[in-house]
Amino acid sequence: MVRKPWCFLEDNPDIKLILTDFQMPVINGVELTKEVRKRYSKNELSIIAMTGTNTELISAKFLKIGANDFINKPFTREEIACRINNSLDALEYIAKIQDMAQNDFLSGLANRRYFFDAMQEYFKEAKKRNEPFALGLIDVDNFKQINDTLGHRVGDTVIVELAKTLKEHLLHDHFIARIGGDEFCLVLKDIEQKKALEFFLKLKSAVNHIHIKTKEGDSLTISVSIGVTFGDLESVEEMINQADKALYIAKKNGRNRIEVA
Ligand code: GH3
Ligand code: MG
Repeated sequence: MVRKPWCFLEDNPDIKLILTDFQMPVINGVELTKEVRKRYSKNELSIIAMTGTNTELISAKFLKIGANDFINKPFTREEIACRINNSLDALEYIAKIQDMAQNDFLSGLANRRYFFDAMQEYFKEAKKRNEPFALGLIDVDNFKQINDTLGHRVGDTVIVELAKTLKEHLLHDHFIARIGGDEFCLVLKDIEQKKALEFFLKLKSAVNHIHIKTKEGDSLTISVSIGVTFGDLESVEEMINQADKALYIAKKNGRNRIEVA
């Protein structure tokens, strides 16, 4: 069986640009563009189309179905090189903008907006599948005091080191974001309550082992409080509210602890 041309793309995810002619032996360029666009958006994979015949109609067709650019044959080396560079630059800018829109600059984790979008989607799917899951709100204890006594820079280092530890403990079906100044939200997908609590306990203990060097050469240790809730509620907002209540109780009961709501 002849493999479809786009299977080659699946096997080679590094490919970022396709140059396609209109008339080709196996599939014409318009059909190829149509098939590729079913699988990859214009922001993921650039397509530059070309033809030497019936240019006006074909160029419009190509652009309508998702080619990023079109070039008439014959073309000069410089022209095709410029168009290729422009297309690749555009992809790079888009990836950078997407990264900035989705990730928190300091910690490198997903930001609040991206978290809520992704979480709404997962929440719906998990409900459909009847899948148990857990959500933990993790908040640094006395963070303001760290900032006030040791300076904002050390505060920033606390956020960076904490994010690093959280990331190290993530498994593939976990999802984490920095949703506020010193507040992180961690979702454990497809997990029973007992296992989820064991995970959060281990995580809390790992945070207690973080040592941050100050300018004076001292070693600063930190702790977090965690409010946990489970996926038997009606909405993401409700889950966050419940977890927030649990977090409030954890703070009230002395910090460096986990509470469940
Ligand atoms: P609690 O144990 O009750 O959580 O007390 P807290 O001091 O941690 O709580 P609070 O919410 O009062 O303090 C959060 C502080 O986080 C206030 C804000 O100035 C600081 N903050 C927010 N974002 C950043 C940041 O990016 N870097 C630094 N260094 N500080 C930040
Ligand atoms: Mg705090």
